[in-house]
Amino acid sequence: MTHLELFAGIGGIREWYSMPVKTFTKEHRERMSIAAKARCARSLPKGTFKWIPFCSKETLESDYVTSGMSQVEIAEKYGVSQKVVWLAMKKYDIPRRPRIKRNQYGPNNDSWVGDSASYPTSHARVKYVRGRAKDHGCCRCGLKDKSKWYDWANLTGNYPDPFDYAPMCRKCHRAFDKSRRGGAACQ
Ligand SMILES: [Zn+2]
Repeated sequence: MTHLELFAGIGGIREWYSMPVKTFTKEHRERMSIAAKARCARSLPKGTFKWIPFCSKETLESDYVTSGMSQVEIAEKYGVSQKVVWLAMKKYDIPRRPRIKRNQYGPNNDSWVGDSASYPTSHARVKYVRGRAKDHGCCRCGLKDKSKWYDWANLTGNYPDPFDYAPMCRKCHRAFDKSRRGGAACQ
């Protein structure tokens, strides 16, 4: 019997609307209650799932504390998510280090331009890697007078290489640039 036949049998849809509301028995209500609870019980109580570590405390400590790896780096190493690493550290009671500014020099910097560095950037790199030319003194005439000007003179035109520069006093730098580019000078 289809529902259309059912409606026909009881006088059509109009009559069906006026039918009394079905009442449920106590047993039926209890069964419905159990079924509803089962549907809602998807959020299981705490402790239902056992935490399984992805590595030992010693390994995690060695990576995080000794090697100084970040949570993200550790996550990548073990093929887990950062959240998993974070939880493991919490479970193992490994204190998290304060967020510190990490090494921003060279390739670690997002703005790293590598070998395509412009002339001023190359000079800034030399200064960072080797210090101020003034502190080295002139490599040609041996001048150490701090009141004078000193420069990092580029030797062979390999500007991106910080070791292609030699500290010189302004006078020697001018003379060096004038006489030649390249060839042996001093480091
Ligand atoms: Zn000099």
